[in-house]
Amino acid sequence: MLACNWDAAPDENQDSGEHKIKITTTVNMVSDLVRQIGGEHVEVVEIMGPGVDPHLYKASANDVAKLQKADVIFHVGLLLEGKLEEVLGKLKAGGKPVYAVTENIDTTRLLKPDEFEGHFDPHIWFEVPLWKETIDVVVAGLSQLDPDHKTDYKANGNSTKARMDELHQWAETKGAEIPLDKRILVTSHDAYNYFGRAYGFKVVGLQGISTVSEAGLADRTKLVDFIKLQKVKAIFVETTVNPEAIKAIAADAGVKVGGELFSDAMGERGQMEGKLDLGTYEGMIRHNLTTIVNALR
Ligand SMILES: [Zn+2]
Repeated sequence: MLACNWDAAPDENQDSGEHKIKITTTVNMVSDLVRQIGGEHVEVVEIMGPGVDPHLYKASANDVAKLQKADVIFHVGLLLEGKLEEVLGKLKAGGKPVYAVTENIDTTRLLKPDEFEGHFDPHIWFEVPLWKETIDVVVAGLSQLDPDHKTDYKANGNSTKARMDELHQWAETKGAEIPLDKRILVTSHDAYNYFGRAYGFKVVGLQGISTVSEAGLADRTKLVDFIKLQKVKAIFVETTVNPEAIKAIAADAGVKVGGELFSDAMGERGQMEGKLDLGTYEGMIRHNLTTIVNALR
């Protein structure tokens, strides 16, 4: 049974007196995932909010407290949260349930670009069918901790999978609005390799560009030449990366900045763009693709 070891006040919106599972997550894509699957049975606290770069993030004392208080911890893994690995490892060694949601993904489906120096590319959430593979880890983790509600977790997992299938189909159709030879995505960092593979975009990231793309695109000048040569209409900044370099390149190449893309964090929950909640996984995917397609059209 679930041991409720938090010092929280009793839940006001629960008449059964049932304790919710305290989940601590790292990035907000994982928060959305565990909320979808845990539903009413969980309470989610996250360490990194909107606009935070997980590659560089170091745990504060407050973060460590959030991790220690959790009944269970979910994170992306694949070294996305590189500087948290040590603290997560220690908690796991001490008996805390800690799950990397990517831990069961078939590694033959993962990319290993040169710039990741022998590691897998962790940005799998941009290929929707691959992110769908993380659902079973959450369902299993919550069911193990709270077997009384395992049928709920299973059902929520299945409905989340169905929504991701729909989202993937939408994304394929949306991407296809741009002719294949015009599907070129130039951004700040190399977060979109899976996106490119899934939806037919050639992806050129400024950070790590010398190995992401054709040989020779080694510096900003060459990126400017590439943009001109390929007649790329727009390039993109990211919410978690300083936009200045991309803005300078856009000015030099005489193209527009096509908008701001979410890369390693989603928006704030309840941050609406039309009907899209940018603080959800679905909102993030739809915002990015719509922004890209509108700017390249
Ligand atoms: Zn990244």
